[in-house]
This record gives sequence, structure tokens and C-alpha cells, in this order.
Amino acid sequence: MSRRPVHIGLSCRIFHPETGGVGLKGKTLQVLEQSVAQWAASRDTLVLMVPSVLQDGALQRSNIRVRDYAQYLDGLILQGGADVSPRAYGEEPLKPEWAGDPVRDAYELELVHEFMEAGKPILGICRGMQLINVALGGSLYQDLPTQLPDQRPDGIGHETPAYDRNAHEVTFTPGGKMAQWFGGVAGGKVASIHHQAVNRLGRDVVAEATAPDGVVEAIRWNGRSFVCGVQWHPEFHHLGGEEMLDCQPLLDAFLRAAR
Ligand code: MN
Repeated sequence: MSRRPVHIGLSCRIFHPETGGVGLKGKTLQVLEQSVAQWAASRDTLVLMVPSVLQDGALQRSNIRVRDYAQYLDGLILQGGADVSPRAYGEEPLKPEWAGDPVRDAYELELVHEFMEAGKPILGICRGMQLINVALGGSLYQDLPTQLPDQRPDGIGHETPAYDRNAHEVTFTPGGKMAQWFGGVAGGKVASIHHQAVNRLGRDVVAEATAPDGVVEAIRWNGRSFVCGVQWHPEFHHLGGEEMLDCQPLLDAFLRAAR
């Protein structure tokens, strides 16, 4: 390798200790889902997971802060996972099971803040896109079927038992950056599995793609650095074969910004 590879940080999923859990079930686990790490590494990037940083000394004291990670790394990918807590955007959970994970929210909101401060690119996947929208002052639908019941007879499913094989079409916003990165194609089929979705867009946040029912499926911050999110999972697209949208242009746009 003739030049230093780009260093990309991936946010972790957090599994909290289960009540009465023994062994690993009694521990806090911070993990990467393999396919997102491999997707991020697919252009010879060096991928590192960013653990949460505890300043309160619950485990061990450290002078390393999230800012140090933002300085060391060239870019950040926020992977999918648990719901964003409605409290992060000023709402109470409509149901207890929609309370999300405020611990992970705090961890990732600080990551977003520090990477934006450092002017380094951020790409959010699924929950990561929603988190970006919330970080920039936007809000979410806590549950799509409840808050935005399909008005159309051809209403599409954003969450089905097919999980990582659930797919639907998206259309890029004409004249948008994403449409440009993807070489002018109108859109394509994506692996999109979620029950929350973007409601009010954050400050200077624009929709870059939408589903046939109008649900926002990609966003971009119209600011001084690359901050972008997709509601879908590019890392699942290999499961769907040729008919799925080739998302290499999105990864490449992010990596260009990281270099
Ligand atoms: Mn969707």
C-alpha cells in the first residue's frame, strides 16, 4: 500500500447487562456487526471501533476524550441498532418499549459533535441517520405504523419479518448531491428495515432520497463538512443480489471527504 490507508471509526452497538444475567449476559457489550465493518473496509480503509468514553471513572479513569478519537480518525460511520430515545428530541416515549437507548444516544451525539467540530466526515446508517437528524435539531416518528399510517393502497413495509432482506425502492431528490454521486440514476432498491423515521428535518438538513410513500430515506447536512445518512443498510445489499442499488458511490463520496 503506497499511501496511508484512511482511518475510519465505527460507533458500536451497546448491549446492556441483563437483569440476573451471568457471564457475558451480565456485562456491557460494545460490538460491531460484521457486515458493516466489512463494507466500510471494502475500499482498503482501516476500520476501528470507537468504544464509549467514560469520564466519570465508573471503570477506570482516563484522560482520553471523544475529541481525541475525532482528531486521530479521518471519518466516522454510525452503525444501526437500537431506537433513538424520543427524549433526545424533546418528546416522551408514546410506549415504554419505544424509550430507546439514551446511553448510546449520549455516546453517539458526542461523537457527532466532535467529528463536526473537527470538520471530519460522518456517514450514518439506519439509526445513524436518525441520530444525525436529531443531533442537528430534527425529530423522528417514534413508530411509523402508528404515527404515519400508510395513506396509499400501495403502502410499502419499512419493517417486516424479512429483516435484512426487507427491500423497497427509493428515489433520489432530483438535483441533489446523492443523485450526483450515483451518476444520475433515479434511485434503486435498498435494504431498509426500521420502525422509526425522520419527521422534522434538522437545521440545514436536506432530504436526498425518499421512499414511494414519502418517508425520508437519506439526508445530508448542507454545511461545511460531509455529514450524510441513509435509512437503508448498504452492508446488507449483497444478500439481495444484482437488483439492489450499488452503494459503492456513497462509500466513495464519504472516503473522498475523509482523505
Ligand atoms: Mn424504509
